[in-house]
Amino acid sequence: MEEEKFFYHPLENIEDVDLFYEAVERNHLTKAISPGRPYTYWTLELYDQKNGIRGGGGLGVLAADTRRVAEKLGVPFALITPFYPYETHQIMKDGTIYDDHVPVNYEDYGFKFIDTVNVKCCDTLCELSVIEKRFKNTRIIGITEPNFGELYSGMSGSDHRLYQEVALGFGGYAALKLLGLKPAIMQLNEVATFFAALARLDELTYNGMDFYEAMVYTRKHTLYTNHTLVQAAEAEFGYDQFEKFVFPNIKSLAVKKWLKDKFTENRLKLSSVTIEIAELRSGVSKLHARVANYHDVAGNKVKFKAVTNGIDMDTWVMPDVMEYYREIGVLDEYDLPTPNYIDALDAVSADKIRELKKIGRKILNDTLKDRPDHTGNILKFDEDDFIFDFKRRFVDYKRPDLPFRDPARLRNILEPRGAHYIISGRVHSGDKVMYNKLQNLLKTITEDDYLSGHVHYIPDYDEKLAYGLSAGCNAAINVPIVGLEACGTSWMKDIANLSFLISTHDGGVADASINSYLNVSGANEDEELDMLYQRMEEALSANENDFDLEYILRQQLKAYLPVISGSRMLQDYIDFLFPR
Ligand SMILES: *Cc1c(COP(=O)(O)O)cnc(C)c1O
Repeated sequence: MEEEKFFYHPLENIEDVDLFYEAVERNHLTKAISPGRPYTYWTLELYDQKNGIRGGGGLGVLAADTRRVAEKLGVPFALITPFYPYETHQIMKDGTIYDDHVPVNYEDYGFKFIDTVNVKCCDTLCELSVIEKRFKNTRIIGITEPNFGELYSGMSGSDHRLYQEVALGFGGYAALKLLGLKPAIMQLNEVATFFAALARLDELTYNGMDFYEAMVYTRKHTLYTNHTLVQAAEAEFGYDQFEKFVFPNIKSLAVKKWLKDKFTENRLKLSSVTIEIAELRSGVSKLHARVANYHDVAGNKVKFKAVTNGIDMDTWVMPDVMEYYREIGVLDEYDLPTPNYIDALDAVSADKIRELKKIGRKILNDTLKDRPDHTGNILKFDEDDFIFDFKRRFVDYKRPDLPFRDPARLRNILEPRGAHYIISGRVHSGDKVMYNKLQNLLKTITEDDYLSGHVHYIPDYDEKLAYGLSAGCNAAINVPIVGLEACGTSWMKDIANLSFLISTHDGGVADASINSYLNVSGANEDEELDMLYQRMEEALSANENDFDLEYILRQQLKAYLPVISGSRMLQDYIDFLFPR
């Protein structure tokens, strides 16, 4: 109850803020997370198909993995996210891609209805259902209603997006109260979740805390995790939109005034206010934290703490490989690298790698049984086929078309060894440029009599394909334009599942040295392309040579295993949030 007293401790004036900071640190941040005071994680996107929620990409996968890791480490954790009543699938018919909207019912996935909460929108009350699914020490709290819409439907600055964001923030905060939970920390997965922290600020202020106290308190307990590199690229909203969706939900006049003052020329970027409301800020890889170009309202560059993303290894790594890592003393029971994992990795042998990749190949063939390629074929690969794979969202900066710039050379690399190349990645609905690039790519494939039988596009990329491909392919290609990938996690799945990584030095890959994997670099795109082809040749020959195979894969694991471990990531977050 000491906590309650503290909540209402009055401050005479703003000069007392330093004292208040000290008090906050003494009394609160050192207070451990508890079941009633969980670590809360706010995200507009969750990618967790097992629990009925399909995301769009890495941001959602990261959210799902963070909860799974918290579960494993016993951290009380609540993830608050929308439950979208529809999800989009991409189906391919006669070479054309169509969007298919499939309804999803939360009850089918073990969610229970708790109660309703309201947010105000356009002069009416919107009733939102609060649903919950509990695990041991973690839970997913969903906010939903029949007209909630789909993930990323509409433009990023649209009324509907703002409605979804407000519903998650204000609705989600009300849901926590309904469930009797107080957040120990609020982690905001991108600025779209800003309204959750705003709801807290408003609640504290409205309940009698001085505005500055409430702001300091909220700031001290809010972590803003940034995944975007350039502030200018972020969506903004207009004052009129806030009048419809945001201001009516704010009870405190002081908070309303604070927010109104943040508009310039009637426009507001959520990043500018998120930076103010969150004192703790993180970027998702070392490189990203260094180069993210953000400024606060005073024009000062914002510093981001680097907490590189990791993956939940039990989700993404073949069980046989995980067992092997534990057997040779590389990983401990929490999926953290052991103190002597580097030496232990010297036990990884070519024979064992080949044995494990054969199991991976079966997993891939199983995955592909109901996932025909772009021509409608069901693919089945032999144990000895060499497969390159490129699997990630079809967006320009990831350069899915790069290896196809010189189809004759690509053919010359693949053909002598009968190698295959699998591509999987969804085009964002409405992205005409990338849709055309995909069509051109498919045309290039069709026009070559070798490539047409050995390059395969698998539509509707999702978690199952991501897993099957990283388990069953031999070399993964990851060639974002350097400087544009915040972290990326699919390359982590590949390294952990014993594939060669052919990559540019970007995102989380740049956490370790350039010699740790099959690096692609160059002064311009032609040079990069040339090196990419060389690396593909190298992977093909290394696969036939025990020494090279062992050397490269051990090297990759030695450099990246700590990065890959999601448990390491959560531990980094907790050390940052609750310094000892
Ligand atoms: C792992 C994964 C991602 C992450 O992809 P990156 O391009 O590496 O960020 C995206 N989508 C799915 C379905 C995944 O499994």
